[in-house]
Amino acid sequence: MSEVPRVGDPWEGGPVAALRRVAFLLERAREDTYKVKAFRKAAATLLPLPPEQVAEAARTGTLTDLPGVGRSSAEVVAAAVDGVVSERLARVEAEHGGPLTQGGHDLRALLRGDLHSHSDWSDGGSPIEEMAFTALELGHDYQVLTDHSPRLKVARGLSAERLARQLDVVTAVNAHLAAGGGTFTLLSGIEVDILDDGSLDQTEELLARLDVRVASVHSKLAMDAEPMTRRMVAAVRNPLTNVLGHCTGRLTGGSRGTRGESRFDARAVLEACAETGTAVEINARPERRDPPTRLLELARDLGCLFSIDSDAHAPGQLDLLVHGCERAEAAGIDPDRIVNTWPRERLLAWANG
Ligand SMILES: [Zn+2]
Ligand SMILES: [Zn+2]
Repeated sequence: MSEVPRVGDPWEGGPVAALRRVAFLLERAREDTYKVKAFRKAAATLLPLPPEQVAEAARTGTLTDLPGVGRSSAEVVAAAVDGVVSERLARVEAEHGGPLTQGGHDLRALLRGDLHSHSDWSDGGSPIEEMAFTALELGHDYQVLTDHSPRLKVARGLSAERLARQLDVVTAVNAHLAAGGGTFTLLSGIEVDILDDGSLDQTEELLARLDVRVASVHSKLAMDAEPMTRRMVAAVRNPLTNVLGHCTGRLTGGSRGTRGESRFDARAVLEACAETGTAVEINARPERRDPPTRLLELARDLGCLFSIDSDAHAPGQLDLLVHGCERAEAAGIDPDRIVNTWPRERLLAWANG
């Protein structure tokens, strides 16, 4: 949007789009989920209702009688029914609607998709179809759904059975989207835990059925450098691994506090990435900024491939990619070495070659 919409400006998108826009912008600003959930819930309630019913409820002031529609949502809806921008939407647009970064926009325009995102099947906040729909709206050609693996219980990691069921849902979502005539594809994937011995936390059979596999360390982040190096190199050398996720595990701030980098022989790990064609993830989440710049530059010099990933846990966070683009641009990384600038066919050939 070129101009920031203001209160009372015309709004043609209808009530559901207005609620989704508020939620999107709040998520993009990484607001706590509880602040955002109300708008998502209200949108889900309104979506199947006939527009006349919503208009009638707005006219009679009974919107808040609908399940999940609170006062803030009702204000957004009532304005949208009248065809104008509400106060809340205008405020959120003014606060959060602008560009997220100074740089990175040229590279961002070259990205065709995103290899790392979570739905409410694990620790994400939104259903698979909402993630897919938002990715499509952002202009992606593809989005990889990468929910967590069984061992990560705090994040409701998917058992083999649940992952197998999720694959059917991905197929159904794609069938639905294809019926609409689009070219966007939701790709199947996983963010699989790298276990202590470097093996991957899912059956080989299932891993092999997925389109793309991101492997990440989520446990024993503070183990000694030597076993950590062995662990990471083993995972990188596993032919099923496509992307090494947030390699140092550091957190530089945000709601989860700070955490230092895991210790490992970065050269050995990144050389293994370069040798095997495993992409080094540039995790775009501002609180991660992983890898740190010195490792990003080392990976660049060693000839690694990269993947700039949102690691989104909510639809609006899919728009965080530009943070990673800004860092990749600053490091002078050739866009053709960034796998998510590639068309889908090339990406899939690389991931399953
Ligand atoms: Zn992770
Ligand atoms: Zn993740």
